[in-house]
Amino acid sequence: MAFIEKRQGELVYMASSLIAAPHAFTTRFGGVSRGDFASLNLGSNRGDDPAAVRENYRRVCALMGTDENGCVVTKQVHGNAVHLVTGADRHVCLSPVPYEADGIVTGEKNLPLMCFTADCVPVLLWDGDDRAVAAVHCGWRSSVADILGRAVEQMEALGARPENIRAALGPAIGRCCFETHEDVPQAVERYLAGDTEGLFDPLPGGKFLVDLRGANARRLRQLGLKPEHIDISEECTVCSHDKYWSHRYTKGRRGSQAAVIKMI
Ligand SMILES: [Zn+2]
Repeated sequence: MAFIEKRQGELVYMASSLIAAPHAFTTRFGGVSRGDFASLNLGSNRGDDPAAVRENYRRVCALMGTDENGCVVTKQVHGNAVHLVTGADRHVCLSPVPYEADGIVTGEKNLPLMCFTADCVPVLLWDGDDRAVAAVHCGWRSSVADILGRAVEQMEALGARPENIRAALGPAIGRCCFETHEDVPQAVERYLAGDTEGLFDPLPGGKFLVDLRGANARRLRQLGLKPEHIDISEECTVCSHDKYWSHRYTKGRRGSQAAVIKMI
């Protein structure tokens, strides 16, 4: 298993060899936005030209085989809600989203689910028997509130079995750059019931480097996923800020990338 760089037209995106369902983790490359948002910004609430965001979003939707009103997105709030969606939830481009959730799950085919990140961990989950898929936005607060536990639970309710679920944890802030106070490792310690060996590096001054992707991968194993069914991107969005949007690196003057998946 590995993350592989792919191209379609001008779009450059990453995909996991572990997931046979159509999916993508977008980069900054292949859009029409300018300035701080150049070029593939998919966030509509940070001041970018709406016409540019619409065109960028349309390109990613086209990659998923649909038009700009064909995907499901959600209003992300760093909580642990996971929302079960259907075709009735398809998002009209640039319209307000009527619900808040950091994870979305569906049992429907040909319904692309999209979440947005800029350092947080994007997690795509796919049941190998095509019973369910999920797109989950895992910042540290959502992570330690066990949003992945909720997502897997909802996939099981749709008939998926944990041992059959494949997970791809996409480009995100790496342990090289995720410097925190002690509140984050303490919360991760509780989240993983102490199963945290190798996830933290103490720094002088009481701070820590935290492997958030590693913590989420550990949780997926606790939930019953097989280790060989968990693919972890090695790219850090802060170190690779030319390729990915990073909230930390840009101090908030940035666009957003997307992680999107559908069953066929
Ligand atoms: Zn880094």
